Amino acid sequence: MLSSLKKELLYGSRAVLRDNIWNRRLLARLRSHETLTAEALLALQQKLLHASMQKALVALPYYQHISADFGISEAACVLREAFPLMDKQTLLANPRTLYPHAGKRRPWEAIGKTSGTTGTPLSIWRSPISVAMENAFIKRHWSWSGFHDGMRRATLRGDMVVPLEQATAPYWFYNRYNQQLLLSSRHLVERCADPMIDMLERFAPAMLQAYPSTAYTLAQLLERRGRTLRIPFLFSASEPLYPHQRKLIMERLGCQVMDMYGMAERVAFATQCEYGEMHINPDYSFVEIIDEHGLPTTGYGRVVGTTLHNLAMPLMRYQLSDQSRWKPGSCRCGRHFPMIEAVTGKLEDSLTGSGGAVVSPSVLTFAFKGVSNIEKSQVAQVGREQWQIRLVPGAGFSEEDGRKLIDNVRTLVDPGVQVDIVLRESLPNTEAGKFRWVVNEWK
Ligand SMILES: [Zn+2]
Repeated sequence: MLSSLKKELLYGSRAVLRDNIWNRRLLARLRSHETLTAEALLALQQKLLHASMQKALVALPYYQHISADFGISEAACVLREAFPLMDKQTLLANPRTLYPHAGKRRPWEAIGKTSGTTGTPLSIWRSPISVAMENAFIKRHWSWSGFHDGMRRATLRGDMVVPLEQATAPYWFYNRYNQQLLLSSRHLVERCADPMIDMLERFAPAMLQAYPSTAYTLAQLLERRGRTLRIPFLFSASEPLYPHQRKLIMERLGCQVMDMYGMAERVAFATQCEYGEMHINPDYSFVEIIDEHGLPTTGYGRVVGTTLHNLAMPLMRYQLSDQSRWKPGSCRCGRHFPMIEAVTGKLEDSLTGSGGAVVSPSVLTFAFKGVSNIEKSQVAQVGREQWQIRLVPGAGFSEEDGRKLIDNVRTLVDPGVQVDIVLRESLPNTEAGKFRWVVNEWK
């Protein structure tokens, strides 16, 4: 009882903070940017970038050697020429010069944390305005599906919705302030799935928010039951979305997938539009894609971003381990937001095959072509030209399935790698409830 009262207070107060006139105005302003010309968007971005750089120069001693004497039109140039690239390690190593007020947080600043799945966790301080802006950017993306406040949505992400040990339904919580059904992804297992699927069917949300892995698990559970749902849109985020996941999710949930790319550092934000293109939101941050020499590239490179809205702690030219590529041309949706290729995962998690060639996760999915009876899988690199495919076998799994998998790797992915199939009882998610389908454990 106490915990449900806590949840009422949490979602009630959050609704008061997030769903007020001021926030609606913020969203309306962001929506108006969708019809701006490319030139007008660039001008807007330069103005925000200039303000963010000026703030960094005043607040962060790390940049004290850089002159603040430059105009709005020179902002992007000065950024590239004077500001060095930095990353998570740089931030961790310089807490007194890259965090404002010599590393002492102000009480009104919120803390954002990276989950630290691939190393040390990191804290970012956020201004109240930047928190509201983030919310408005997410709602702008939702609006691309026609979704607005007052419509029903279901959420299947990492939220602790009910206690882990709970063994009877309901495995969900209804947040009546936002017409939101929160489902416990920890209970998305064979034993608890039926009541969850029934509830989703009755609730009939206009959209589902999920991690790709949780939406995929739901789709697999539906497949095993020969059932389908009709949820118009899926908003996926926080993990790479692989083609095999997208396919089954669309089949079983009956939805159009609208993927979103972002991170706790909030230095880049890309949203998939009605026509399937990933658009960098140019009014959110200033994004660069750079090659191994730190120079701009039109090929694949690392994503680097500079914040535009968090003046409590601006991040300048923050290098992510994600890689992508600019996509030339314009989109049928009419928005002048630059396009990128889908971000397929962290660089440190990419696998290499024969001769050290990087193997794209989309290619890896070919290994599973025509292979059935698998509940969950993970592909890991464990040595030079050595992979392990870990499987939680389904009821009808046989050696034949394992052989087919190995054959597929040889014929469709890479003939030169050594592959071992390892059967597991479970493949756990990270603490945040996310799942890494591809991992590189060979250092
Ligand atoms: Zn588009």
